[in-house]
Amino acid sequence: MTTLDAVRQRAEADARTYGYYLNPDPQFLQSLLEGLKQNEERYSYPSCPCRLASGTFDYDRDVVCPCDYRDPDVQQFGACYCGLYVRKDIYEGKAQLQPVPERRPVEKQAKAYGTAAITKKAEIAPITKEEGKEISETKKKLWYCKQCGYVVYRDEPPYVCPICKAKKEFFAEIKTRVDFSG
Ligand code: SF4
Repeated sequence: MTTLDAVRQRAEADARTYGYYLNPDPQFLQSLLEGLKQNEERYSYPSCPCRLASGTFDYDRDVVCPCDYRDPDVQQFGACYCGLYVRKDIYEGKAQLQPVPERRPVEKQAKAYGTAAITKKAEIAPITKEEGKEISETKKKLWYCKQCGYVVYRDEPPYVCPICKAKKEFFAEIKTRVDFSG
């Protein structure tokens, strides 16, 4: 079983290797590290704590932390998508952390959401009863961030909002019922 210390040490070592820093906000950093630890326990690899993982390594490989998008994001925005790795000026408080837009291609996100086939079909034909049933029976739910309005479809809310960095507790479920029986 992975310990939080091991996750922290790995992130610190990686930050040192690449000349980055970990987020200077201790509470925020802690919640990201906890998210990584839980993902590692759940999937056996530390997938990004701000993104949905499919649980299939081949689909998730680009978002195993540190993800494929970290370096260009830190270079362009001063931080990775989650804000775990930051540039020196942000670490030192000389620059503000800004929201980092999602760089992960939409097709990869769609695979993780498990809706790629349904979405593609829905563009050319109405969703069938069977597909509707599949959607209705999924355990995934719609969650929204009460702080910034970010909406995500997954089993549980993310540990940290990728847009405004609010914690998991700031997410609420959007209760909606769609009738596909007609
Ligand atoms: S966005 Fe940051 S925390 Fe998320 S996987 Fe990439 S490097 Fe790790």
